[in-house]
Amino acid sequence: MEKATRQQSKEHNRNLVLKTIFDHETISRAEIARITRLTRTTVSDIVASLLYEELVTEIGYGESHGGKSPILLGLAEDSRYLVGLDLSRSEFRAAVINLRGKICATTSIPVSNRSGAEALDLVYQILDKMMISGFQPIVGIGVGTPGLVKSSDGMVIKAVNLGWENLPLAELLQNHYRLPVCVINDSQAAAMGEYLYGEGHMAESNLIVINARHGIGAGIIINGKLFQGDGGGAGEIGHTVVQEGGSLCRCGSYGCLETVASLQAIEKKAGMLAAFPDSNRASEIDMETIYTAFIEDNIQIKQIVLDAAHHLGNAIAVLVGALNIGQIIIVGDMTRFGHLWLQVIKNTMSQHALSTLAKDTTIEFGKLTKDSVLLGATAVLLHDYSVLFMIRSALKHHYLGH
Ligand SMILES: [Zn+2]
Repeated sequence: MEKATRQQSKEHNRNLVLKTIFDHETISRAEIARITRLTRTTVSDIVASLLYEELVTEIGYGESHGGKSPILLGLAEDSRYLVGLDLSRSEFRAAVINLRGKICATTSIPVSNRSGAEALDLVYQILDKMMISGFQPIVGIGVGTPGLVKSSDGMVIKAVNLGWENLPLAELLQNHYRLPVCVINDSQAAAMGEYLYGEGHMAESNLIVINARHGIGAGIIINGKLFQGDGGGAGEIGHTVVQEGGSLCRCGSYGCLETVASLQAIEKKAGMLAAFPDSNRASEIDMETIYTAFIEDNIQIKQIVLDAAHHLGNAIAVLVGALNIGQIIIVGDMTRFGHLWLQVIKNTMSQHALSTLAKDTTIEFGKLTKDSVLLGATAVLLHDYSVLFMIRSALKHHYLGH
């Protein structure tokens, strides 16, 4: 028991030192001791082990305040890589990411309505490509997927558009690639990505990220931490019914938020317009067609897009009332509709939320464009740094094998 506690406090101190190094471009041992309130000896011992692990490097001398100039330490940001995977778009997108969140290589595969086993097969294909990208060693895989996810064991409970139900995605990938894998909901991943790598978010602050694309979801950060709710479904606002007797949703209900506010809803409504007489099927109307009509001021398309914005603004008003989180960010394909679309969302939120709460709420576009899900999923994987320390034995194993 006592041994376990000692081990835990050792890990806790190591993580504290590592976090301090992550938070600074360069830093001396003395400054780490001052910030973490650990003794200089403890800090020196931990730094020695981090140097041995090649996670940290000595990169020169700092300014002297009297005595000897202190040696500056920095994170060896290219000493390990993570693979991030975003399954939320019309194409699967993967990237190799370094420890500072820099994207080193990317690839994507169009999904073209494949689901079930076929969609899973695409996941293996895209990951296989990333594994041989030349950035080594890769120490873990972070996946952001649409749908309800039990992230403690990486189980996809239900992802309607991918046709997955109770799919043990993390376990499958772990067994296949022999690496730690983290699977989380795509909107929750986007929220982490924006919080950690977007600009202007204070430490331990609150943030709501709305992911507006084919589906609609939200990710909620409270006190700097991802809030997942009791069942992992916090932010799953897309399948709340907002229109009694509305149109059929892919989840089986009628009148969900997704049937009125999402890109899918817009595509479906645009498909029924006389303006597109050649397209008999709604599937032929895509984002590109709609966007072109929208910027060319096609009145009917504009009406459909702005109606969708109105519904989204209303849903955000409900979130504002429930959580009173003042900073809201919108990411996803639909942000292409730009400031006119955003303005309708803002106006509706202001009119429908309690005015004193609405007054202190800002809604803006995210800063990361298409990388927030990838970055967020890998950031969650890194959360206690343990994946960074699994490499030594893996490397040893690799070298012994040759
Ligand atoms: Zn639904």
